[in-house]
Amino acid sequence: MAISRRRFLAGGLTAGALGLLGCAHEASVHRQRWYYFGTLVDVTVVHADARRVAHALQRVSALFGDIHRNLHAWRPGELQRINHAIAVGEAVSIAPSTVRMIADIQDQHVRSGGAFNPAVGELIGLWGFHDDELPTGRPPSRKRIDELVDRQPSPLDIDVSGGRLISRNRHVQLDLGGYGKGYALDAGMALFREAGLTDVIINAGGDLNVSGRQNRRAWRVGIRDPGGHGAMGYLQTAGSEAVYTSGSYERYLDVDGKRYAHIIDPRDGMPVDDIVSATVVDSAGTRADAAATALAVAGRQWRDVAEFLGVREAMVIDSQGGIALTTAMADRVSLDARTRRQVTVG
Ligand code: ADP
Ligand code: MG
Repeated sequence: MAISRRRFLAGGLTAGALGLLGCAHEASVHRQRWYYFGTLVDVTVVHADARRVAHALQRVSALFGDIHRNLHAWRPGELQRINHAIAVGEAVSIAPSTVRMIADIQDQHVRSGGAFNPAVGELIGLWGFHDDELPTGRPPSRKRIDELVDRQPSPLDIDVSGGRLISRNRHVQLDLGGYGKGYALDAGMALFREAGLTDVIINAGGDLNVSGRQNRRAWRVGIRDPGGHGAMGYLQTAGSEAVYTSGSYERYLDVDGKRYAHIIDPRDGMPVDDIVSATVVDSAGTRADAAATALAVAGRQWRDVAEFLGVREAMVIDSQGGIALTTAMADRVSLDARTRRQVTVG
């Protein structure tokens, strides 16, 4: 998954760190930081029982390690095993959780009108993004890009039955860079919930899941200015939800000052360039993650795609720096008056 800096900052935090024991009955704030999915993962849990928190954190860390390995697009693991089988035209057995994940990916692919297409791994690799480092050198040739686009890889080429996966198209190469963080954070939140911990925020490089509250208030998260360094406002969360951003400004190929983003339009194989970032709030990380990627691909048509996807809360920053928010999103977001950007609502 992609390396990215933090776009959303957990805001309004008081104090406390993992291992600091508060008063026995008073909820205290426990914080932990890991590195998974190519990014820093900051977890904050509010609860009185530090041992319970520490135990849950251990379990979530182990889970993230497993998911990180298994969904990695260019290192050995479950996804590579699946991609290898597809490339050689063989069926491969997959875990029940992967069966559900494939069904969800297919659904989101269809509902996004094809903009969310995690089967385009060959194209993402061609552009040089299957590497921990940012790509260097020249863009690939138009001829080579066209060849890969013409192979029309789609998640719908995949059939799953009896716990076995087979693809009609050998050029399907799954890349879950636009989905895996959502999948992982949803699973992490479920583990915390199982442990009785409901006031939690997990922030993976600006993509985050929240649940519950802190200081009797819902979590508030800072919105990073893609053009600057600090926050340009904040977003008020409500209950359990996920806030995900797809950006073209963090992972890109720089050729003489022109930036080619890591989000690829499956229709022409080219990096997106209309939209600098797309942020979506949804009930689940998987939905928010996939939708944010889809809106970034949709470019100026992002409102249509949001509607198909059933996304009500979205914020998009275009390449001219203009900010557009859906009405429901505008109710949540407070932008700093000094942002001096053109803001459109509706
Ligand atoms: P970020 O990594 O900045 O949070 P995304 O969630 O959009 O942004 O993830 C981008 C990653 O998604 C790319 O690095 C690539 O692995 C994958 N990807 C690129 N284009 C698409 C696409 N059209 N559909 C689905 N996944 C994509
Ligand atoms: Mg995404």
